[in-house]
Amino acid sequence: MAFISDSLSRIKPSATIAVSQKARELAAQGRNVIALSSGQPDFDTPDNIKQAAFEAIRRGQTKYTAVAGITELREAVVAKFKRENQLDYTVAQTIVSNGGKQVIANALMATVNPGDEVIVPAPYWVSYPELVALCGGVPVFARASRANNYKLRPEELEAAITPRTKWVMFNSPCNPSGAAYTRAELEALAEVLKRHPHVWILADDIYEHLVYDGFQFTTPAQIAPELVERTLTMNGVSKAYAMTGWRIGYAAGPVQLIKAMEKIQGQLTSGACSVSQWAAVEALNGSQDYIHHSRKVFQERRDLVVSMLNQAPGLDCPVPEGAFYVFPSCEALLGKRTESGKSIETDEDFVSELLDAEGVALVHGSAFGQGPNFRLSYADSTERLRDACTRVQRFCSSLR
Ligand code: PLP
Repeated sequence: MAFISDSLSRIKPSATIAVSQKARELAAQGRNVIALSSGQPDFDTPDNIKQAAFEAIRRGQTKYTAVAGITELREAVVAKFKRENQLDYTVAQTIVSNGGKQVIANALMATVNPGDEVIVPAPYWVSYPELVALCGGVPVFARASRANNYKLRPEELEAAITPRTKWVMFNSPCNPSGAAYTRAELEALAEVLKRHPHVWILADDIYEHLVYDGFQFTTPAQIAPELVERTLTMNGVSKAYAMTGWRIGYAAGPVQLIKAMEKIQGQLTSGACSVSQWAAVEALNGSQDYIHHSRKVFQERRDLVVSMLNQAPGLDCPVPEGAFYVFPSCEALLGKRTESGKSIETDEDFVSELLDAEGVALVHGSAFGQGPNFRLSYADSTERLRDACTRVQRFCSSLR
């Protein structure tokens, strides 16, 4: 339709939302559906954080805030980066937005000109290429391999860089693979980036706290001081504190970039919700007990689903270091048929037939730029995860 803008016609609707919608429709028809397609912790927001929000409301802190966020939250962000990542930022180098997603959108809108390239390592979070395209940029996919547990190698990064590259999107632990980069792996990638001073780094650390088996999280700005001047380090409270609905993300980076992002945010939203910002102050400054609890529970669930999926004939599931997703390959099942005679040619067929046959909703890997795989989110109860994995095993065993 001519009424719709050219930039909107460049972007796709979210595949994860589409799967969740189909699962809801089947459930409404009375089917017993287990949807493991969502990207949010199943826990409730901790009480101390809710309490801080109630108190902010009682104090009347319900008005517009400064566009870049209340000083108390920006100071908490500075303290968080110092405490957890040994990074030195000033308040002026920080910004608070409506979720990490708006941080990324602001950064891209503030910097990407038509035709500029943004390197998106695949598999990737579905929003990266769409946000790049919305800004008139060109997503350039750099495919990470199963052999390297879906982590980008230095030579793969190098091959994707051109004179038009503006940013590389860097997400560790990764949605959808759960893969997290070790310090040594990051240092090797940083060596490449040092050779290309025109390339900026957007570090999406949103899953920082969800790492297992004692994995040491590292963010790019930490390992290469010479990259700090062109790195935006983004994070948020959504995944770390079960606060997806509060919509608070934050970032730190060079002042000039932060100012440009603030200018955009001032026109788009005027800033983040005042009450949520006070809640986020408590999340960052208050007790961190919840993080330790959720990490332990998620690790147990990860171990359960990895083990059960690897027992399903034809699935190959690496053990991810972090996040709450697993990303198995179903390549060995392509070309087989279901009991009802349907042929499985792609990962999309696999998840669609699995949903029909067993009522388990997963998202096909090709939606994240890497197939034939699927993403299973284990942000659900152990009992439902066990049930879902049993159904996946039964489905895989039934294919001929
Ligand atoms: N980055 C990644 C990799 C994500 O998976 C998500 C959410 O799913 C976000 C950023 C954005 O999270 P939020 O906007 O809730 O802070």
